[in-house]
Amino acid sequence: MKRKTVLVTGSSRGIGRACALAFAGAGYHVFINCRNSTDKLETLEREILDAGGSCTKLPGDVSSPETVRSLFREITASCGGLDVLVNNAGIAHFGLLNDMSDREWRNVLDTNLSSAFYCCREAIPYMVSKKQGRIINISSMWGTSGASCEAAYSASKAGLDGLTRALAKELAPSNIQVNAIACGVIDTEMNGRLNNEERTALEEEIPAGRFGTAEETARLVLMLAEAPSYLTGQVIGMDGGFL
Ligand code: NDP
Repeated sequence: MKRKTVLVTGSSRGIGRACALAFAGAGYHVFINCRNSTDKLETLEREILDAGGSCTKLPGDVSSPETVRSLFREITASCGGLDVLVNNAGIAHFGLLNDMSDREWRNVLDTNLSSAFYCCREAIPYMVSKKQGRIINISSMWGTSGASCEAAYSASKAGLDGLTRALAKELAPSNIQVNAIACGVIDTEMNGRLNNEERTALEEEIPAGRFGTAEETARLVLMLAEAPSYLTGQVIGMDGGFL
């Protein structure tokens, strides 16, 4: 395959979808993934192909190590491996920590943090053999500052930030860059639970006066995929000045 290759986990909607479209527009072959919304993945595939882009649907639950192994078997068979990995798949969980079950805790940590470990573990050997590669983790400002009633989510994103910084050191000698974006409030379905009043109150707290968009996040992801190789181990805030 002549095109550069990228896997965007969780690309059926929101930030992941915008990333998939941005990479396809930039000439990458994009592996698109989600767990449940295979219909939305099909729509995205059509959109990319109709615009002259190139992509492969790769549905599967990235919180499962076995599934991630099998997804990467398909990637290896079709193109050898990835130039860029975007660990984007994630879920939110709101509520008091005391009310959280073991299963809910594991679900948040497995989806938001362990999935990145599973995907990195599969992607790295090919990148090392090529002596180049980019890993971009979609984190959250709550991983930096902590959010009340989102303790598991905040812990998962703080873990992702730690993974980013440590892995960047481990992989720098192999010319593989690892960075994260600590998103603020981005206007996607993840924030769909907010009513108009809550939304307005939140917007007033953000110095930029508005939520960010999935498209502007995707632009930063693409910039990181193409950034100078000396930029690594960074958790870059993208929050309209919130923190
Ligand atoms: P959405 O809820 O809009 O999209 C989440 C995506 O992840 C969907 O495509 C979903 O697909 C997929 N997904 C969830 N679980 C899995 C899984 N186990 N395996 C594969 N795919 C999965 O969220 P956003 O676009 O807003 O969020 C994307 C990332 O950005 C997340 O990591 C989130 O934490 C982070 N972020 C978002 C912020 C925001 O304000 N929106 C702020 C800070 C960070 P499906 O459900 O079909 O499986």
